[in-house]
Amino acid sequence: MDRRSFIKRTGVASLGIGLNFHKTFSKTKNDITLPIVIATWDVKKATQKAWEILLKNGDSLDAIEQGCRIEEANEKGQSVGIGGLPDREGNVSLDACIMDYKGNCGSVVYLKNIKHAISVARLVMEKTPHVMLAGDGAKKFAVSMGFKEENLLTEKSEADWVKWKKKEKYNPIINIENHDTIGMLAIDKNNNISGGCTTSGLAYKMQGRVGDSPIIGSGLYIDNEIGGAVATGLGEEVIKTVGSFLVVELMRQGYSPEEACKTAIHRIVNKPGSNYQNFQVGYIAINKNGDTGSYAIQKGFSMTKYDMNGNENISSLFFDKKI
Ligand code: ASP
Repeated sequence: MDRRSFIKRTGVASLGIGLNFHKTFSKTKNDITLPIVIATWDVKKATQKAWEILLKNGDSLDAIEQGCRIEEANEKGQSVGIGGLPDREGNVSLDACIMDYKGNCGSVVYLKNIKHAISVARLVMEKTPHVMLAGDGAKKFAVSMGFKEENLLTEKSEADWVKWKKKEKYNPIINIENHDTIGMLAIDKNNNISGGCTTSGLAYKMQGRVGDSPIIGSGLYIDNEIGGAVATGLGEEVIKTVGSFLVVELMRQGYSPEEACKTAIHRIVNKPGSNYQNFQVGYIAINKNGDTGSYAIQKGFSMTKYDMNGNENISSLFFDKKI
C-alpha cells in the first residue's frame, strides 16, 4: 500500500468512527473496532484500567496515564515505579514520558522518591513551558504539584541489590520476569491516539544513567495521522536508532505495524559489530486503523491487547537469523 492510499484509508476510517460515535463500539471501514489499547509485556490489569476509561468515551491520554499508574503502584514489579530495581548505588530512579494526539509531550528523567512518574510527565507537558524535567528539578516540581515523597526501594529490591553487589557483574537482564518498561498506546472512540511509557530503567545501571523511555522519538512516538510506537529493552540501542520515531515513519510509508517494528529491530541487529545476542529490544505499534503489531530481538517478549474481543496477552515475533 502506498502512502497516499494509506492516508486515504485512514481518512475514511476516521469518518466512519465519527458517524458511529454514539455506539458502544465504533467500526472503521476495515472492521477494526475502537477503542483499543495495547501495552508492552503481560500487564492485563493496566490494560483493563485503560480500557474502562476508553469504553466510557474517555480520552486516550487519560487511559494511558491511568493504565501506567497501575504498574507504577505494583510493588511486585521490579522494573517500574515503586519496587523498581535500583542503580549500582542503591538509588531507585524513574524515567517516563507521555505524548498526546496533538503532538504535545512531557517527560521526567532520573526522578527519585515519587512513584507516579507518568503523572509527573503529564504535568510537565500540561503545566510547564518545557518538555523534560530531570533529577532534583523534576522532584521539586512533582512535590509542588502535590505528589507525596516515599521510599521506592522495597525490601525485595534492596535484598536483590545487596546480592548483586557481592559480584557487581553488570549484564543487562533480558526479559526480566517477563515484565519490563511499561509502554502503552491507545486509540479512543474519537480516533485519537496517545501513548506513554514508564520505567525504573536498567537494573544496576550507573548512577545518573538515562535510557530511551523518557526520550520522545526513542522510547515513544505518536503521530495522530499515522499511529504510535513504544519500545522496551536496552535503551541505549533504541536511542542510537531513534527507534519509535523510526517505526512511526515506516508506518507513514505504508508498512504495517508489525513490518515497521521488524524493520526497526533489523536496523539494530544489522549494525556492524552488533552484539544483539546479548540484549533484548522489543517494539509494539498501532496504526490509525487500529492494526497492531510487535517485534523483538529475543524470544520472550509479548504485548497485551484489549479491544472488543477482550484482554489478551500475545507472544511477539522475534528476530530469526534465517529470515
Ligand atoms: N528501556 C528501558 C531502559 O533502557 C528499560 C527496559 O525496558 O528494560 O531504561
